[in-house]
Amino acid sequence: MSEKKIALAVGAHPDDVEFLMAGTLAMLGDAGYELHIMNVGNGNCGTAQHTHEEIIRIRGREARNAAALIGAEYHRGLVNDIEIFYEEELLRRVTARVRQIRPNIVLTQSPQDYMEDHMITSRLMVSACFTRGMSNWQSLPRAERTFQDVYLYHAQPLGNVDPLRNPIVPSLLVDVTEKMDVKEAMLREHRSQKDWLDVSQGKDAYLDAMKDMARDVAEMSESSVEYAEGWRQHLHVGLSAQDGDPLGELLNEKVEQIQKRGG
Ligand SMILES: [Zn+2]
Repeated sequence: MSEKKIALAVGAHPDDVEFLMAGTLAMLGDAGYELHIMNVGNGNCGTAQHTHEEIIRIRGREARNAAALIGAEYHRGLVNDIEIFYEEELLRRVTARVRQIRPNIVLTQSPQDYMEDHMITSRLMVSACFTRGMSNWQSLPRAERTFQDVYLYHAQPLGNVDPLRNPIVPSLLVDVTEKMDVKEAMLREHRSQKDWLDVSQGKDAYLDAMKDMARDVAEMSESSVEYAEGWRQHLHVGLSAQDGDPLGELLNEKVEQIQKRGG
């Protein structure tokens, strides 16, 4: 039973994983998982100074450097920002990634969030995992079907609210306090974004925003957790033969169950 286990974190844009998921992902690495980070968008809208080609190249390199800090393999964005649509070709391309990477645990965006790119990324990932074993669904490029169980978890939306301002409460809280240094170091690698926000929002506003988010999630804890990432698990139907919660089991003492599953 020494088969390698694989965790994949998927953000719409370069830096979404660092903001919402990197602490938990790093802990899965400590638990022996092979780590992958993937973006659906290439980050081309995250600039006020670079050309389209320049910023795509810069942000791809930044995200790769950030991933390397936790030993994760990076898979660059497939389409331009704001062009992340739930459409056939992109779903086929995302399916190819899922078939090639063969994840057992997938971390991705919230199905409700302030930005369409995030919500569509969440839906694309659910469908790509769902179709990974379907013989009549061709991925682009063609990749061999896979049949491993996948357990999919959604990160918190910005501000812990849906687009209509309703609160989103996670079912699992992961205490990522011990991973805040590496989470910050990863975010620092996104220099094009940090420098831009340092000028428009004040020094280190970018890093402070990430810490504030982790602190806000930690406030939902019933114990004295300083920094946390929150998760809601997708229903297992179509994704795994049996229901289960490998994230909760693996990170056991660092995890707090906030709500009863399905409750
Ligand atoms: Zn984003």
